[in-house]
This record gives sequence, C-alpha cells and structure tokens, in this order.
Amino acid sequence: MFIIFGTRGIKHTVNDSPVLSNSCPNCNDGNLVHKLYRRWFTLFFIPVIPLDVVDRFYQCDRCKSAYNENIKTVLQQSKQEIDENQKRAKQIFAKALVASMTHMSIIDGDFAKEEEREIMDVIEGFVEMREELMAIHEDVKVNANKDNRVFNYLSEARNVLSSEALINVLAQAAVVLLADGSIEEEEETLMKEYLIACGLPKEMYQTLIDKLKQKDMSKLKEGQLN
Ligand SMILES: [Zn+2]
Repeated sequence: MFIIFGTRGIKHTVNDSPVLSNSCPNCNDGNLVHKLYRRWFTLFFIPVIPLDVVDRFYQCDRCKSAYNENIKTVLQQSKQEIDENQKRAKQIFAKALVASMTHMSIIDGDFAKEEEREIMDVIEGFVEMREELMAIHEDVKVNANKDNRVFNYLSEARNVLSSEALINVLAQAAVVLLADGSIEEEEETLMKEYLIACGLPKEMYQTLIDKLKQKDMSKLKEGQLN
C-alpha cells in the first residue's frame, strides 16, 4: 500500500490576539481578526502534525479583505494616508495579477482566446489603471519573464500584501491554467516558483489549489488587498 504524505498551509485564528473592531479600510465596518497560516504535515492529505507558522495577517470578518500585519501601524495614520496606502496596494495587486496571469497564459506556447478574455476581465476591473495594465500585459506577452519582470512584480507585491492576498493573486493566475482543463507539470513547477518569488513555501501549492476549488473567483477581482 502507498503512504502519501506531504505538507499544506492551513489558516487559523490567533485566539489570544485582540480583534481590531470596525477597522477595515476596504468596507469601513468589518472587524479585523488576526490570522496565521501554519504549515501542517499531512498523511493522505489529512493534516496530522502542526509545523511552522508561515505568515501572520489580519482578515476582515465582513468583506474578507486580508491585510499585511503592519495594518496595525497603518490604522494609526490619517484617513488620507490610509487611502493612499490602499490605493498603492491595489495598484501593486493589479500589476502582479496581470503580469502573472499573462505569463501563465503564454507558458504552454499557446495563447488561447478564453485566456485573453479572463485577463481582459481583470483589466476592466481596474478602470483607472487600464492603460498601465494593458502595457504590462503586452510587454509580458512578448517578453515573458525576461529579466525577471514577472517575478519582480510578485516580489514588489510581497512587500505590501498579506500572504492571503498573494495566494489569491496566484489562485487567479491558476484560473488561466485551468482554462484548458488541466494543470501540466511545467505549469505546476511555475506556480511553485511564483510562491517562492512571493516569499511563501512551495508547499503552499496545495492551499492554492484548494482555494481554486472552493471559491467564487469573482471575489478575487475585488478586495483582498494589502
Ligand atoms: Zn472589510
């Protein structure tokens, strides 16, 4: 008999950490709950032994936006500064998303119509950045990851976004992969390289695939920032 073991990231609430009430910069009303990703040793895909903590972040209990831990410091800033930070995080999120989706869609050497449509939908969701995102899309379409351009967008995102938001970026990119029905081995390898570029362990791959299965992609196009 085969024994299948591995690791996966599981999200937990940090029980002894105070909730930041009515503080969500996205919906202005939600409570921010302290969360962490912990890596678990799994046997037959069932988590059995908790391993290290991968990342800590805050998540809104209302709109589900996820924030980097430094949101606590950010909340002490003025309304204007918070808005500016949010705007910047949104721009970084959008650029990383379009760059990785485009890269994913050309990696198999065939840029399909459905893939283009998925990417255009995302770009249309960020009206004020439309031109900039189109330029990134065209650039990555031609140059792929030349000079690490795609990875650079991801590592920029790593500095401002939470692990939850980063995984959402990659889960959205994976939708492009699944547009043709299956994930090829080289596509899986690329996803793992993306995780590493985002500062996350490659074992989070399973977490990412789980996310893809559970959800509602439309949610990813909004929020989930910082
Ligand atoms: Zn919220």
